[in-house]
Amino acid sequence: MNVNIANNETTTPCKLADAAQPVGAPSSAKLDLIIEGGWVVDGSGERRYRADVGVLDGRIVAIGELHQHTAVRRIDARNKLVAPGFIDVHGHDDLMFIQKPGLPWKTTQGVTTVVVGNCGVSASPAPLPHNTAASLALLGDIPLYADMERYLATLESLQPQINVAALVGHANLRLAIMRDPAAEPTPQELQAMQALLRQSLAAGAVGFSTGLAYEPGCYASQAELEALARVAKEFEALHTSHIRNEGNEVEQAVEEVLSVSRNSGCAMVISHHKCMMNANWGKSERTIANIDAARAQGTQVSMDIYPYSGSSTILIPERAHLIERIKITWSTPHPECNGMYLADIAVQWGCDKEEAARRLLPAGAIYFAMDEQEVQRIFQHPCCMVGSDGLPNDSNPHPRLWGTFTRILGRYVREDRLLSVEQAVRKITSLPASVYGLVKRGQIRPGYWADLVVFDPDTIIDRATWDEPTLPSEGIEMVAVNGQIVFPPPDPAQTPSTRPGQVLRRQPPA
Ligand SMILES: [Zn+2]
Repeated sequence: MNVNIANNETTTPCKLADAAQPVGAPSSAKLDLIIEGGWVVDGSGERRYRADVGVLDGRIVAIGELHQHTAVRRIDARNKLVAPGFIDVHGHDDLMFIQKPGLPWKTTQGVTTVVVGNCGVSASPAPLPHNTAASLALLGDIPLYADMERYLATLESLQPQINVAALVGHANLRLAIMRDPAAEPTPQELQAMQALLRQSLAAGAVGFSTGLAYEPGCYASQAELEALARVAKEFEALHTSHIRNEGNEVEQAVEEVLSVSRNSGCAMVISHHKCMMNANWGKSERTIANIDAARAQGTQVSMDIYPYSGSSTILIPERAHLIERIKITWSTPHPECNGMYLADIAVQWGCDKEEAARRLLPAGAIYFAMDEQEVQRIFQHPCCMVGSDGLPNDSNPHPRLWGTFTRILGRYVREDRLLSVEQAVRKITSLPASVYGLVKRGQIRPGYWADLVVFDPDTIIDRATWDEPTLPSEGIEMVAVNGQIVFPPPDPAQTPSTRPGQVLRRQPPA
């Protein structure tokens, strides 16, 4: 049979009946779901092969020729690829699981698991009553949870749509313990932060995140970070970091977190690695050389990117004169400015851009200050994963929220041919599953959880743009989470709306 598959130069078509005896289930078993006749890109990075995939009780139970099997539901995946569900390693959806639990921006692009609690901010622990920080706005505005156990238990009771693993934010630890979060912690405060981190990890957080470019994370010394990383190491959990500087001092900032990792033994992920502003373009050659050297010496370090040359976070007035193009994503006092460029607002108001930025606060923004070539080069590094960094609260969000994963497969793989589909799928499935310790996820193998995506490699594409940032992607045909189909959305009249996601609490190392 002829199949039209992107990047098929890497493919040796195998026969459907290659696996004469399917691996897994006895042929008498009635399966819940069979995905038939697709090309399986199993997440390992190995070449695709033709096979049916059988699912029972939320798990993949058989792979091979399954037409003899009976099933409650069969999906025709001929000429399509069947991959493990995508793992978004960098989400800020902590409270969205509670506010808007359908999470269509995830399911429409094939994401079946998200890691939340990034950039130092998480849904728990809650700050002391008098403490707050601007970066908490990345989460939205409902109250935070007193502790990680209460947060995770709430998610479990509400039943998440997709799987979720949580990091605990370092800003939260500071805000929950320190009377003055802008100070250096006293020895007692540092101990209390360590205890709170220990409690969060014991409850099932997969690690802790730092946001060293934001208050109050920016006040932390390397010694403080190491003291916390040593606690994470006790649990074999990890440290993810929005590093201190992604511009002029990006090299020093990478070196700082690598040192934390070397000195503590704690595995780490450098979040959304990038070099901002023209003068710094190209510096990733040196930061990545440093990362490679650390890896060669046994330091467990990886990184992630999102596939865009614009970044997005809260509006920082000091950046107004450093970055030419800044687009406002939300503003509490001036919602009429959502979606406008800061330069135009400044002209309209007859003031300079920094002053306009101050008047817009609290607010969010997109900053156009990266080199697309550099983003693509970082993406190709073997230890680089993909994190959307999507900001679901923003009224005019960065398009990465809706388009990251389909953009990777449509533009970086099919159009730009940066990697084969198999290699790209590995970066968004088995690699993050192993880095974050997500057991039996990220591969199509018997016994693994049935997080599955069927997509058309010839049509998959993001549609979200800077001007229309919430357009859903195309080319995703089906998404299943733990064996249950979440996309296309099931008809509520026929199927009771149970949400199939699981809270992925960190499992102790075997
Ligand atoms: Zn960040």
